[in-house]
Amino acid sequence: MTYTYDADNIFAKILRGEIPNNTVLETDHALAFHDIQPSAPVHVLVIPKGPYICYDHFALAATDAEIIGFNRAVGEVCQKLGIQPGEGGNGYRLIANSGPDGVQEVEHMHLHILGGRPMGRMVQKAN
Ligand code: AMP
Repeated sequence: MTYTYDADNIFAKILRGEIPNNTVLETDHALAFHDIQPSAPVHVLVIPKGPYICYDHFALAATDAEIIGFNRAVGEVCQKLGIQPGEGGNGYRLIANSGPDGVQEVEHMHLHILGGRPMGRMVQKAN
């Protein structure tokens, strides 16, 4: 694989404790924290602790334990936030912006969990 991870990205700095964050959950394989510029009443980012750039990089290169641990953390965060549609919550949207077309700003794999209001159409109509 030719992915080149830049350890100076802001989420790597958060993982190293060099920049503060508003933590929702930390596990062996994941850290979840509130987005600094929320786009919805609920806007939490979940990142794996390993050096993965984007979703496909993580999905292809992470260990089974990392992938399972990360996904369990996403479930736990939804539980903590009270947004599970099957448990009385109103649901949420997951977004994983990847690369230039995905308009990814921070090159450390992350999932956005957005909720607290109806999120509208999934994407703008394509050109
Ligand atoms: P993306 O465009 O998917 O790469 O989104 C990156 C997200 O990271 C944006 O929603 C930013 O608001 C968020 N962000 C950037 N810096 C921080 C930070 N220090 N703490 C929390 N969220 C951040």
